[in-house]
Amino acid sequence: MRVAVYPGSFCPLTNGHIDIIKRACKVFDKVIILVAVNKDKKYSISVNDRVKLIKEATIDMDNVSVDSYDGLTMNYARNVHAVALIRGLRVVSDFEYEWQYAAANEYIDSNIEIVFFMAHKETNFISSSTINELFNSGVDISPLVPKCVLDYLNKNRK
Ligand code: ADP
Repeated sequence: MRVAVYPGSFCPLTNGHIDIIKRACKVFDKVIILVAVNKDKKYSISVNDRVKLIKEATIDMDNVSVDSYDGLTMNYARNVHAVALIRGLRVVSDFEYEWQYAAANEYIDSNIEIVFFMAHKETNFISSSTINELFNSGVDISPLVPKCVLDYLNKNRK
């Protein structure tokens, strides 16, 4: 059983994330989406709501589960016997951050591989912050996020 952990903020989950999840499911037997909580960061959506939304959006994906964790992602990955951490790469500017992230995690445990999926050209401009910005400016984001996320954002509009 080859388990992979896909950590991120998912604030909110986008179709860019969904694309990475679907592709990771082809490569691994089980993919755990981990809402990784950084105590120093402020999030516009609560951890519980983010977990609920991801569960709803992935309900039809048999080998996907969702969890949250406020400790070191690598510790979580070790606890579930993961063989890999999944990350996505969009533009060149992602590379610098992701390179450091991968190097730090490799330093913690080099037995867990960091596996990158390249964003498709249809989704490579989608980030959670862009989604929040477009949504708050009244732009139609329905093609860019799962329906449950759109409904949630509409319901919780400030
Ligand atoms: P974080 O705040 O930890 O970077 P995110 O939830 O924004 O978490 O993203 C988690 C991972 O998914 C990161 O590796 C990020 O590069 C990747 N990702 C986000 N959006 C996309 C996308 N549109 N296409 C491919 N990968 C993406």
